[in-house]
Amino acid sequence: MNLSMQPREGSRTSVAVLAVHGELRALAAEDIAAGDVALELEGILVPEPTRYSVQVGEGQHLEVPAGVTWEQLLARYPWRYLNHACNPNTRVAGPAGRSLIALVDIPRGSELRFDYEANELELAEPFPCRCGDCDGHLVRGFAHLEPEQQLRRLPLLPEHLLRRLDRGGQQANMEADRSDATADEHQPPTR
Ligand SMILES: [Zn+2]
Repeated sequence: MNLSMQPREGSRTSVAVLAVHGELRALAAEDIAAGDVALELEGILVPEPTRYSVQVGEGQHLEVPAGVTWEQLLARYPWRYLNHACNPNTRVAGPAGRSLIALVDIPRGSELRFDYEANELELAEPFPCRCGDCDGHLVRGFAHLEPEQQLRRLPLLPEHLLRRLDRGGQQANMEADRSDATADEHQPPTR
């Protein structure tokens, strides 16, 4: 198996999947400027998150199609190897959440990582963070963050989580309204 730094065909910038300390990681195969598309995200959409999926919309999770070869996986779906970071250098964005955007200048050879908690509402398989910049908390998804932790991620948030924030605000207002309502008034269930 050849895991050398090979530019990904057909993309403006390139990503290589490389074994680092026994783990496959997605690395920049060339310098990527802040704001540039590091990678277009290809795949199929599934309604529920899986261990490796990337959320691109409400109830929409990008997944690698079944039956792809190892070579296809590395060449077409390197996003599958994007790790989490609490201080990420990329975020998932763009039309329908199908691009990985560089947040800072990323030199060739650097690992590309994004903040799962600023993109995934719920992780299928939570894990303890090993990014090195935090206390090793359990990464479970945006839905499990405290309100101030959610707001801190505001500049990174995709549409599906921004909508979630709005809804959270509305819900808070409804709670406040409800406390003013009389005790015997029936409220419709909120979601
Ligand atoms: Zn961390």
